[in-house]
Amino acid sequence: MFCISTQVAALDFSTVVIDPGHGGKDGGCVHNGLVEKKLCLDLALRLEKVLKAKGLRVVLTRRTDVFVSLEKRAIISNRQRKALFVSLHFNASKDRSISGMEVFYRSPSGKGVATQILRSMDINLKGKNRGIFYEDLKVLRETAAVAVLIEGGYLSNKTDAARCSTAAHRDQMARAIAAGILAARS
Ligand SMILES: [Zn+2]
Repeated sequence: MFCISTQVAALDFSTVVIDPGHGGKDGGCVHNGLVEKKLCLDLALRLEKVLKAKGLRVVLTRRTDVFVSLEKRAIISNRQRKALFVSLHFNASKDRSISGMEVFYRSPSGKGVATQILRSMDINLKGKNRGIFYEDLKVLRETAAVAVLIEGGYLSNKTDAARCSTAAHRDQMARAIAAGILAARS
């Protein structure tokens, strides 16, 4: 009998580089009274807390409202050994009916992590699961570590925006992402 395993190979990492999207002069998307850069940083600090409690080493590419170029983010990540790079964003669309969570990857290993993280978010959070997508994003391309980029919801959508505006939802999102990260680890 020929079997194809659907199990994703576990990764060996001891550091998580959390990359809160945007910052400083780059606000990211602004909709429904929400500013993406602020939500990204808030989520990053919550995720840092959960991962540290689980014994992982955590590095943030920014921990205040400052502008950090994509090159600099990759440089910070590339200083770390045995790291996983997780970029945090929130999305927007001209079509305000579009809602949900997405995770982007570029490498096969990244695809495995993206799968685990989105699965955990889907189980633990309200909101639509839009799937994982391959995307040749600069921040994923220039990081040597296995890398993923999470879009936590569409700020242009009223329902997603209302959810993402609450600390309780962002806290739950941090826990769901952490559980996905841990599931991807060997
Ligand atoms: Zn963004």
